[in-house]
Amino acid sequence: MKELDGRIAFITGAASGMGRATALLMAAHGATVIVADIDEAGAKAVVDEIAQAGGSGVAKALDVTSPEQITACLDSVGAQFGHLDVLYANAGTPGATGHNVSQAEYDFSVGVNLTGAYFAAQQAIPLLNKSPHTASILFTASTAGLVGSFLSPLYSMSKGGVVMLAKALALSLAPKIRVNVICPGPIDTPMLPRFWSREKQEGVEERLDSWVANDIPLKRRGRPEEIAEAALFLAGDRASFITGVALPVDGGFTAR
Ligand code: NAD
Repeated sequence: MKELDGRIAFITGAASGMGRATALLMAAHGATVIVADIDEAGAKAVVDEIAQAGGSGVAKALDVTSPEQITACLDSVGAQFGHLDVLYANAGTPGATGHNVSQAEYDFSVGVNLTGAYFAAQQAIPLLNKSPHTASILFTASTAGLVGSFLSPLYSMSKGGVVMLAKALALSLAPKIRVNVICPGPIDTPMLPRFWSREKQEGVEERLDSWVANDIPLKRRGRPEEIAEAALFLAGDRASFITGVALPVDGGFTAR
């Protein structure tokens, strides 16, 4: 028996990185995965990968900064499937780093990382309530939502908000829906060097390697598949008594 057999999972930011890895893993474990992303071609490519592996997926173009698009997207999911079992609000952006952030940059970061997570959850709740199982909401925050990020106060603030959103929803949606948040450390996806190059273009990989060597006890970057394993566990019934947890998957970064 596969862990998510027959379940319907909706993942935002699923065209790349950890969202993509989670879509592939959840589909391999029997879920029908709705692969939602602002990058529609990327979402379709992930659905093709799922199909090639014998799984089932549907691609949706979605900009999570638009509550109207989230509503329309979830309405179409409701019309097709009738309910949802798993929502993984994962889409995120590094946004601007440093202190001299403009109002437009502020609105963009908060729009993707926090507003996008909030409205994805809010709009999915009616469909999750129709799940025949205990439904599950997952978010991707960051270790920067647990401890301050020296690179970006704005990113830390938005991800800290996601952590608290998850905890508050865990209380208000129990016992029907479990809610947990994954807090990744440095994970090898296209976003990681983008985040570090905001401060300065030169020597991004070297600066990252040096930070990882000094500050990550396991002495390496994580892989998107390692986030997907945590997401699969938290989404399914093996985690049936776990709600309101902010789980670092960070090579030990926040242990000190
Ligand atoms: P990624 O760049 O590989 O994937 C992010 C995906 O989100 C992309 O497919 C992108 O198109 C999509 N996206 C961006 N803006 C969107 C929007 N407005 N609407 C819909 N989709 C949108 O990056 P990743 O590292 O896999 O990031 C996934 C999550 O993990 C993000 O929330 C990020 O903040 C968080 N995170 C990443 C790291 C890391 O080291 N990579 C560490 C901590 C947290």
